[in-house]
Amino acid sequence: MAQRTEIDGGAVDELHRTFRGDIYRPDDPGYDELRRVWNGSIDRHPAIIARCTGAADIRAALRLARSQDLLVAVRGGGHSFPGLSVCDGGMVIDLGAMKGIRVDPSEGTVRVQAGVLLGELDRATQEFGLAVPSGIVTHTGMAGLTLGGGIGWVMRKYGLTIDQLLSVDLITADGELVRASQEQNADLFWGVRGGGGNFGIVTEFEFRLNPVGPYVMAGPVFWPMENAPEVLRFYRDWIAHAPDELMTIAVQRRAPALPIVPPDLVGKHVVAIVACYTGPVEDGERVLRPLKEFGSPVLDFCRPKPYLEHQMMFDPSFPHGWSYYVRSCDVAALTDDVIDVAVEHGSSISSPVTSVAMWQMGGAVGRIDDSDTAFNGRRAGFTFNINGNSKTADNFDAEREWARNYWSALAPHHTGVYVNFLMEEGEERIRQAYGAAKYDRLKTLKRKYDPTNVFTLNQNIKPD
Ligand code: FAD
Repeated sequence: MAQRTEIDGGAVDELHRTFRGDIYRPDDPGYDELRRVWNGSIDRHPAIIARCTGAADIRAALRLARSQDLLVAVRGGGHSFPGLSVCDGGMVIDLGAMKGIRVDPSEGTVRVQAGVLLGELDRATQEFGLAVPSGIVTHTGMAGLTLGGGIGWVMRKYGLTIDQLLSVDLITADGELVRASQEQNADLFWGVRGGGGNFGIVTEFEFRLNPVGPYVMAGPVFWPMENAPEVLRFYRDWIAHAPDELMTIAVQRRAPALPIVPPDLVGKHVVAIVACYTGPVEDGERVLRPLKEFGSPVLDFCRPKPYLEHQMMFDPSFPHGWSYYVRSCDVAALTDDVIDVAVEHGSSISSPVTSVAMWQMGGAVGRIDDSDTAFNGRRAGFTFNINGNSKTADNFDAEREWARNYWSALAPHHTGVYVNFLMEEGEERIRQAYGAAKYDRLKTLKRKYDPTNVFTLNQNIKPD
């Protein structure tokens, strides 16, 4: 699609006549706040931001964008690492005001509009002791997270976010409002479960709910980084037979300045195993005892707590506005070689806000047939998320370099990558994320639903 930055004033006036939401141009109050996304290293200036209230607004905005050949960015929670939901010139179709959530406890389902954040959905569903599997930072958007797959604390018990997805309502590039589910437009339903925003704008998601909490046995246990070789080896062997209820993430970082961290530990290099047991708290206490008793932890904050509180645990480590860079890969297992790389590079973390997360995969995620959804990482053993972060632009280059080096050192062990953890890394990496067969199937789908690539600002599947 051609890209222009000048918009015909008459066309904008026309949009104003029917639009129920708010429209922002660069000189309007509020524009600067709305153009910002979570990653503070992204600084783009769209020509127009259409903050939609529903499907009618989205259709009207899309009509204007197409008639003016504008680049289109679609924004859910604004959390994509590379800033895919904002553009220079062009139009941002901002869904952030679409906050409707309708929980149906008797049916065990919930309908969620596209602007809902993870924490907002958890709050609504936990009222009934229920949850949708989602991610680990509550200000992430449900929309982008779901469309990429969705990994988080309860996935080993209930699968990915997409494994509990029942249907989506979606507006295609032509402005048609369609439903996709196992019964309707099944090809599209396959594609939106991992294929990102390539096929249209989802207005609403419908999920199945499952019991979670409201109390879980969860939290981090910390050891000094010097102990990381034996901690990570113990951890690997210990989780080899973990029940589905147990989900863990191994974290490397410098101990953060948080109220729970003793002042003499702040800034020291540490390795932590963060756990969440999605089942009775007493069972969680029993299952987690060997971890808590291994070696000499410098801090043990793993205890019974509300699921809602655990979901927020990482929020202070990833606030809006810092500069963020991520490199990610899946590996089959935490072999001794992988652990050696992790220990070497984790020990040289410089920024106090840089961190590495090694996600334990498996459980229910791995038992679903790989061909059922576009998501491609079901057989991964671990997903590495290497975050080179900086509070300001200063030193950000060094953090990025550090993240790239860590990732490159793991290259002999890479088995794939989760599409939601990609930066803008080019077509070959997107192909790697899906694997050749799924990538070709996604291309066929793209040709059907978006042949001119209107939805290009995503991990893009090119139609040609
Ligand atoms: P946005 O930037 O708004 O959108 C991301 C992409 O999705 C863009 O291409 C956008 O166009 C498209 N999109 C958004 N809404 C729609 C829609 N309604 N219809 C069509 N396309 C749409 N992922 C996990 O799986 N688990 C985690 O625990 C997790 N933790 C994270 C923590 C942090 C701090 C960050 C930054 C990311 C995390 N992620 C996680 C990755 C996250 O899933 C992706 O960044 C996701 O894209 C964020 O969605 P969003 O709606 O907030 O982002």
